[in-house]
Amino acid sequence: MENGAARPAPAVIVAIDGPSGTGKSSTSKAVAAKLGLSYLDTGAQYRAITWWMVTNDIDITDPTAIAAVAGKPEIISGTDPSAPAITVDGTDVAGPIRTQEVTSKVSAVSAVPEVRTRITELQRSIAAAAELGIVVEGRDIGTTVLPDADLKIFLTASPEARASRRSGELKGADVNSTREALLKRDAADSSRKTSPLAKADDAVEVDTSDLTLQQVIECVVTLVEEKRAAK
Ligand code: C5P
Repeated sequence: MENGAARPAPAVIVAIDGPSGTGKSSTSKAVAAKLGLSYLDTGAQYRAITWWMVTNDIDITDPTAIAAVAGKPEIISGTDPSAPAITVDGTDVAGPIRTQEVTSKVSAVSAVPEVRTRITELQRSIAAAAELGIVVEGRDIGTTVLPDADLKIFLTASPEARASRRSGELKGADVNSTREALLKRDAADSSRKTSPLAKADDAVEVDTSDLTLQQVIECVVTLVEEKRAAK
């Protein structure tokens, strides 16, 4: 490289974990877009495999039945933060994976070890192919999927803040029932045996309860830039 020519920024792997309603998706997409990184929504992958189980009448109360077919659906995730896409066997499922039915069943499906092994492999191969780096959001990214990530963030927020954000997203759903459903899903995700929702020891914890989305984005962008500069 000639003297004075701009050096490309080093590839950086960012893991953003935390429970629902902490602003993970909005933050992760915005940070990736701002820094020219790829983006992976791992929750969408667990939702996609759950959608496939429901559509194919698999008994989601039976982990053995789920495990037996966990390798069947072909799940393809786009990594463009401005247009995240997800397909199952060629069908666009970006809408169907957000239904109440899938949301209420995803924790049971994602607790099955064979499902986690399959989806974790997929996630690692997507991260390895991201030449400029990637922001990966989920529940076990810093602890299990990408334990060597350059930067690990764990987002938290009070149950009240999370429920009111989520009911806003669900266009005015009742805050109390949203809060209950959210806490139930987090309890299931945190207590499962295989790679539960957890903060990695070396993750930076950011409490977003009293921060605007813009403030959270700026905080994470600064942390990524610091890591990049140190590489
Ligand atoms: O992030 P989102 O709410 O879309 O995640 C849906 C569900 O997918 C979570 O409640 C959890 O059961 C599962 N999940 C997981 N591990 C991840 C991401 C999501 O188990 N890394």
